[in-house]
Parts: sequence; C-alpha cells; structure tokens
Amino acid sequence: MSTRTAAASTGLASAATRIDTLVLIAAALLFILALAGLSKQTTALRGNTLGIVGMTAALIGTIFLALTLDSGNRVLSAALIALALIIGAAIGITWARRVEMTGMPELIAMLHSFVGLAAVLVGFNSFLTTPGAATETNAFHMGEVGLAVLIGAYTFTGSIVAYLKLSGRISGKPRALPGHNWVNLGLAVLAIAFIVVFGHTTGVRGGIGYLVIVAVAALALGINHIMAIGGGDMPVVVSMLNSYSGWAAAMAGFTLGNDLLIITGALVGSSGAYLSYVMCQAMNRSFVSVVLGGLGSGGGAPAAGGSGVAGEHTETTPDAVAAALWQAKRVIIAPGYGMAVAKAQFPVATLAERLRAHGVDVKFGIHPVAGRLPGHMNVLLAEAKVPYNIVLDLDEINDQFKDADVALVIGANDTVNPSAEDPGSPIAGMPVLKVWEAATCVVFKRSMSHAGYAGVQNPLFFKENTDMLLGDAKASVDAILAALPTK
Ligand code: NDP
Repeated sequence: MSTRTAAASTGLASAATRIDTLVLIAAALLFILALAGLSKQTTALRGNTLGIVGMTAALIGTIFLALTLDSGNRVLSAALIALALIIGAAIGITWARRVEMTGMPELIAMLHSFVGLAAVLVGFNSFLTTPGAATETNAFHMGEVGLAVLIGAYTFTGSIVAYLKLSGRISGKPRALPGHNWVNLGLAVLAIAFIVVFGHTTGVRGGIGYLVIVAVAALALGINHIMAIGGGDMPVVVSMLNSYSGWAAAMAGFTLGNDLLIITGALVGSSGAYLSYVMCQAMNRSFVSVVLGGLGSGGGAPAAGGSGVAGEHTETTPDAVAAALWQAKRVIIAPGYGMAVAKAQFPVATLAERLRAHGVDVKFGIHPVAGRLPGHMNVLLAEAKVPYNIVLDLDEINDQFKDADVALVIGANDTVNPSAEDPGSPIAGMPVLKVWEAATCVVFKRSMSHAGYAGVQNPLFFKENTDMLLGDAKASVDAILAALPTK
C-alpha cells in the first residue's frame, strides 16, 4: 500500500469512528428521552417511538463499528450480524404478535433470561479472547468479566424459573430447601470468592476453571432463590430481574468497552430497581420480604373463602345496573385483572362513552398494581381509546368516591378490598380504591367462590350498598349496553 493510500485509509477509519461515536451518543440520549416519555400516558407513544429510533441507531452504530474494525474477516462479521438480526427479529415479531396482555409478565421474564445468557457468553468470550497478564488493569477487567458472568448466570436461571411459574408450567408455590437463605448466602459468597481468585490469575488455563465455578454457583443461586418465592410475588421478582439484567448488560458493556451498553444497562438497572420499589409500596410489602421469599404462595389461584369473612351478598341484573347508571350524575369505574381476562375494555370504553354522551360524569380509578403488571389497566384503556383525562390514579380518585352515585368494580378484587384498613388482615396497609364510599357499588365477577390474587376474602361483596353482577365481565357489560335506553 502506498503512503498516500495508507493515510487516506487511516483518515477514513478515524472519520468513521467519530461518526460512530456521534450515533451512539444520539442513541443514548434517545433512550433517556424514551424513559422520560414513558412516564406519562400522554407521552408514552412518543417515548416508545424514541426508544425504537434509539435502538435502530444503536444497531446501525454497532454494525458500522464492527465493519470498520481492522481485525478479522469483515464480510463474515457482517454476514453473521445480519443472520443474527434476521433470526432474532423473526422470533421477536412472531412472539410479540401472539402474546396476550395477560401473558406479558412471562414474556418479559423470558426476555430477561436472554439478556442474562448474553452477558455470560460475552464474559466468557471476553476472557477467552483476552486472558491477559497479571497487571492491575487486567485484574479490573477480570473483575468485570466475573461480575458479568455472576449477574448474568443468576438472571438467566432466575428468569427461566420466573417464566415457568408465571406460565403455570411449574407450580407457583414456594419451594425452598431447608435453610435456603443460608444456601443462597453460601452460593453468593462462593461465587464472589472465586471472582477474587479469578481476578488474580493469568492465562486461559489458570482462569477458566474459576470462571466456570462462578457461573455454576450463580446458575444454582438463580434457581434456588426464585424457586423459593411464591407465584404471587413473581411480577415484583420479574421487575427485580429486569433490573439485574440491566446491570448484567452494563457489566458486559464494561468488558466489551462499549459505552452505549454501559449507559443502557445502567438505565434498565436503575429503572427496574425503582419499579420494584414502587410495586412493593403499592402492595405494602417490603422489598426484602419479597426477595427473601415467604408470602405470595397463591400463584393466582388462592383457596376459596380467603380469610373467612362471609355474609349475605346481593345479586343484581344488567337491566338494573343500566337503569342506575342512566340516572347517575357521577360514575367511577375501577377495573382490575378480570377486565383483562374477559377482554372487556372495549365494551367498557363504549359504556363510558354512551354515559358521557348522556351527560354523566364518568371517570376511571386505576390502582398502581391492578392487573398483573404496572400500567396494565392504562394500556388496556388506551387500546380501547378511553380519553386520558378521565383516567385517574389512586391518589387523584380516592377522595371522589364519596361523591359518586355508582362505582363499577370490573374484575378487581384485592385492589378494592376494605380489609386492607384492618391491621389484622394479610393485606393490611395496602392502599386500596375506596369504592365502597360511593352510594352504590356494583362488582363484576364470575362467581362468589374465588378470592382475589392475595387469597384474601373481600368484605366489600357483603356490604349493604354493594350489588354483585355475576358472570363474565364482557358479557355483563355487553348486556348493560343492550339495556341502556337508546335516547
Ligand atoms: P385480583 O386478581 O385481585 O382480582 C381479579 C378479579 O377478577 C377476581 O375477583 C376475579 O373473580 C375477577 N375475574 C377474573 N376473570 C373474570 C372475568 N372473565 N369476568 C369477570 N370477572 C373476572 O385483581 P386486582 O386487579 O384487583 O388486583 C391485582 C392483584 O395482583 C393484587 O393482589 C396485586 O398485588 C397483584 N399483583 C399485581 C402486580 C402488578 O404489577 N399489577 C404485581 C404483583 C402482584 P372470579 O375469578 O370470581 O371471576
């Protein structure tokens, strides 16, 4: 190569690196803006779009970076990246199209397991390709590799167990070994000790055995830890694993020297941790008690009768509910998991629209953990085109129930359970929607034989001003719509 050609090639490579850095910074900014957008319903669509644009920029930047590297076979790299993208996109699109809203937590759990596995593979690859010498810099790099493998392997098996529990492929009941917290502590100490030993070794032969021990201990820790947590706490666990998958990605970013992966991993890690905290607050559970296992053994199918509160309930009919709604001035709708199961959001939206057109003030009250993942109800109502300004959070709506003529509880149970105000109740202290303060409360439910997710009986059903409308929520709302006067 002539001197001039070599200089031109070097100049081109440095220009490419600079463009690439700009693209990656833009992607990082877009991810931050995406998170900001996702914090409010009105801006969520914009946030999502910004996230997609950011991810596309990140992919283009990464491919570009791989193709401008001097080492290796660039054509083979490009072909392998294209193949991985095509396979990943095909699986992702097929899966996303098939999944029901109620199956979202288990899909998310499965996706976290992929992030964990990727971090483990990146860690091993990084060590095998640059085993390095026993210098201080290298010890730091080896520490990053060890942590990526530790967090990644734990996230991998933990997320698979969470997926199996949420999808009902294994029992949601907590299954703990005797002294499981000590076993977990032992495995964690073992893994960390071997990361320290690993950090001081040189050459592939010396270190690989230690890294395998770290991986095996972390894989066992993931299984043992999550098996001991009940199905009822799985959504919080999924959010916690989301956070860990972010930290695993950040560690992988350190080992690869990829700043964007470090930033993205840290964003996912911290937002997942915050979400876990918010969910625990909304259920009045301490994060430590969830993580150490114990409650939440119901797995979504608790025993009939719950805490044993019972009494006479009053049943009503769609015609009677339609008449009450038509005469009402203020109506508040409190949706819950049952609305998602029945896919009743569309007729519920039509009902709200018809009543509003008739001059009734209709609002929705959303509990932070109504459904099976945060924002579940907001997504369903947005899908059914319910205007955002009539969808209020628990704090905004709770003082308004006392002025409402009718409260419609559509497939919600724990989130409207007045026994949360009783210090002796298993859900004591959980903030709930005070639907019983409305003049009349109508509860939509299939039968009287099941308690809510927490397995606690609900005294709301036996209150004097509560009427039960038994049956599938969609069929019930359809019947009410049919019974509303046409003018
Ligand atoms: P619940 O699970 O407490 O109650 C659901 C209600 O819907 C039940 O009364 C059920 O009664 C009824 N239902 C189910 N299917 C239908 C149907 N097809 N038609 C009519 N009714 C139906 O739901 P909530 O939303 O009130 O509470 C959520 C629970 O999930 C809380 O305990 C919360 O802590 C927990 N949770 C939520 C998380 C989140 O992030 N959102 C995370 C972790 C836990 P029946 O079977 O008789 O029909």
